[in-house]
Amino acid sequence: MTLQRFPRPDYSPLEPYDPGRSPVEVNLSDNTNLWGPHPGAAEVIRSCPPDTFARYPTAYATPLKEAAARKFGVAIENITTGCGSDDLLDSAFRASTLPPARMAFPNPTFSLVATLARMNGLEPQPVPWSEAEKDPRAILTSDPHLVYLCRPNNPTGQSVAREWLLDLLEAVGDEGPLVILDEAYADFGADHFLAEATETRRLLVTRTFSKLYGLAGLRVGLGIGSRSLIREVEKSRGPYKVTRVAEVAAAAALDDTSGWAEEIARETRENRERLLEELERRGLRPIPSQANFLLIPLGSGRGDGVPKALPRSGLAVRQIDAALRAKGVAARPFPKLPGIGDALRVSVGPWPLMEIFLDALDAVLQEERGPR
Ligand SMILES: *Cc1c(COP(=O)(O)O)cnc(C)c1O
Repeated sequence: MTLQRFPRPDYSPLEPYDPGRSPVEVNLSDNTNLWGPHPGAAEVIRSCPPDTFARYPTAYATPLKEAAARKFGVAIENITTGCGSDDLLDSAFRASTLPPARMAFPNPTFSLVATLARMNGLEPQPVPWSEAEKDPRAILTSDPHLVYLCRPNNPTGQSVAREWLLDLLEAVGDEGPLVILDEAYADFGADHFLAEATETRRLLVTRTFSKLYGLAGLRVGLGIGSRSLIREVEKSRGPYKVTRVAEVAAAAALDDTSGWAEEIARETRENRERLLEELERRGLRPIPSQANFLLIPLGSGRGDGVPKALPRSGLAVRQIDAALRAKGVAARPFPKLPGIGDALRVSVGPWPLMEIFLDALDAVLQEERGPR
């Protein structure tokens, strides 16, 4: 094999990530906390002594691990951390196998994971949800080295059944591929797999502070798994990833007993169901969600298996998105999602913001239907 010098040939199809966001008044595009940051964490940040910035943080985010161990009732050795859960996924991908290798995932899912896979020399192996749903073993057909699953799933908001995931873990056993379960939205759903993570050799559950805790700008994520698995991920992660400010602020958010996070989660669920009803009243068919967002199929872009919500819709989702933006509201357009077609994802937040979204959407759909 010839020596490959810079640049890496497998990087040539990759592009730096473009979130495609321009500033708007009401940003419902990225599922961050629309109520704002966790107040306890914000207070810690405000009162950081100058030494916080002059000195290094702990090498492996000890204060944060201690708070997570208290919160989730696991040992410190069951926890790893990262500069956002994206970084944690990256470390875990790197630790999981030697490239070239394959990473399988039900599709559609979190769009960044295919890129993160390629960054680590892993070939993405998307499996249509329609196949994966029938039998979790469909995900293992390509004999992957790594499996990624998001529950509740981004961008659909759906959660696979517990039994389905237990079947998958059984098929994987102690020798199969590492299964990464992304629980970025588990706080808004009905259940989680944290207990299974510490008891199963092949399962890593990831969490983020970017959604419920409102700390996306701080970049903090957590991973929970068996001690041996966590040790391997920590080797790949390396030291000093989480900043000093982040490790103490995120720890404060976990230690908080005021009930702030629980209240936000409750209000999010309530507003999500209310928004779902409002959209249904408009003849739309949002997918029932366990997360802090709704995905609204638009009946264009060749979706199969999805009711044609807007039979007369001539607008592609990018046009709807542009029209909403012109009114100061940003959602996230997903053109031609496999099995769904064009769809619009909207974050759930305080009800007044949902009303602004509904008004803008009404105006856009009205303009589109137009005077005949
Ligand atoms: C938002 C999101 C994340 C967040 O990652 P951070 O890097 O912690 O901000 C991870 N996974 C999914 C599926 C997400 O939607």
